[in-house]
Amino acid sequence: QCPWGARNTTSISCSLADVMSEQLAKELQLEEENAAFPEVVAVAEGPFITGENIDTSSDLMLAQMLQMEFDREYDAQLRREEKKINGDSKVSISFENYRKVHPYDSDSSEDEVDWQDTRHDPYRADKPTTTPRRGFTGKGKDITTKHDEVVCGRKNTARMENFAPEFQVGDGIGMDLKLSNQVFNALKQHAYSEERRSARLHEKKEHSTAEKAVDPKTRLLLYKMVNAGMLETITGCISTGKESVVFHAYGGKSATEDKVIPPECAIKVFKTTLNEFKNRDKYIKDDYRFKDRFSKLNPRKIIRMWAEKEMHNLTRMQNAGIPCPQVVILKKHVLVMSFIGQDQVPAPKLKDVTLSSEDMKKAYYQILNMMQQLYKECNLVHADLSEYNMLWHNGKVWLIDVSQSVEPTHPHGLEFLFRDCRNVSQFFQKGGVAEALNERELFNAVSDLNITADNEVDFQAEIEALEKMNEDHVQNHGKKLSMFSSDGDPPIYDE
Ligand code: ADP
Ligand code: MN
Repeated sequence: QCPWGARNTTSISCSLADVMSEQLAKELQLEEENAAFPEVVAVAEGPFITGENIDTSSDLMLAQMLQMEFDREYDAQLRREEKKINGDSKVSISFENYRKVHPYDSDSSEDEVDWQDTRHDPYRADKPTTTPRRGFTGKGKDITTKHDEVVCGRKNTARMENFAPEFQVGDGIGMDLKLSNQVFNALKQHAYSEERRSARLHEKKEHSTAEKAVDPKTRLLLYKMVNAGMLETITGCISTGKESVVFHAYGGKSATEDKVIPPECAIKVFKTTLNEFKNRDKYIKDDYRFKDRFSKLNPRKIIRMWAEKEMHNLTRMQNAGIPCPQVVILKKHVLVMSFIGQDQVPAPKLKDVTLSSEDMKKAYYQILNMMQQLYKECNLVHADLSEYNMLWHNGKVWLIDVSQSVEPTHPHGLEFLFRDCRNVSQFFQKGGVAEALNERELFNAVSDLNITADNEVDFQAEIEALEKMNEDHVQNHGKKLSMFSSDGDPPIYDE
């Protein structure tokens, strides 16, 4: 015999028509859902952003969404475990800090309480009963003053509802919890700091281009470019580096007649997370062109300056005729330039391409030439020159990635140049170009500084001495030292 009484065995009978209509309803619902969320599957292969389906996603974004889904499931599991461990014990432990999605920046609507719910809310404080002037109510021994512990405690419990809605205060009222002022104040303080913590977390998430996809604000910038017709389609991501994410796009129509937008574009989005920024600030902080502006700027603006710097440097190179991407437009931390490559396939980096020995030699002389042009005509040192930042396209080498490039008079400009020379020398010497100069010869050939030291250590020391001389000169005269002399004389003062 079942202790719960006889089982109710009435089976729900239903007609075939009901089943069918249920099926029909399901189908209709599916159709509706498909209409609301079109091409859920096709999105994975589809373009990143086009004029029509603005909210489609790249693989990366899908990955991000999956990650979010995973995090949410993980948290749900955590909550189940929490519940299991706690049971109905009066003292409970919380796994709150182990959750992946912080309750405040959870964007899932599942757990959200409908705030317009008009049913009776047990957490709502009853209309405050004012304590009359005299400071007590009641008569005789039932007198209660405004200082009454119980009343006060209950009031404090009710006042917890003023905490941020996400702050879980529990069923204090239901338990007839009486909080002392001290406890209440401590809780209030905690709620406040939690709220701020969540705001910070949220801020971090919103403003980062981390996780390899772009943040909402950047996405909006990209949408706007597509909407304006400047870009036809953003097809997808070409590269995700530490400091930038690069997308491929098909060019659209230009607003002005004189400017032609290339058929294929590369969009470089500078990451707005600031972890990498620390490693780089020596490039820009000491760059005279940006010196005055640097001190007054917040980190976000400095990120924009990286983009701006790349634009200026590319323009200088373009004017000198050095093969490099052509600037299309700069919007905040997003730089649009011409795409080096074809049909969405970016030109290979020099490190990834196998050249015939003839091409290798050709590439070497071209680079030697470009380094000299860069130094003399553009007044720039690449500062990150290597086989990683040179593309092989249409039978020649193209220079990219010049956001960190500096003028030779940058306090570390010559050291950067020497590093560039070392990378280039080593690459071509290993690549079997017998004519390739060693790094010191290359340095002199590019800079005309004629440093005579025959070993690396002394050479480096002389470079640093030159840099220091220039620094001192700037300190004393507030002016740069000209290190450009075509005939190889030692530096002259440019007064
Ligand atoms: P990072 O600072 O991340 O190294 P880069 O400017 O070097 O940024 O770009 C990263 C990668 O994106 C490059 O190695 C190259 O493969 C690709 N890329 C960047 N700009 C272009 C471009 N204009 N055309 C084609 N590919 C590009
Ligand atoms: Mn690079």
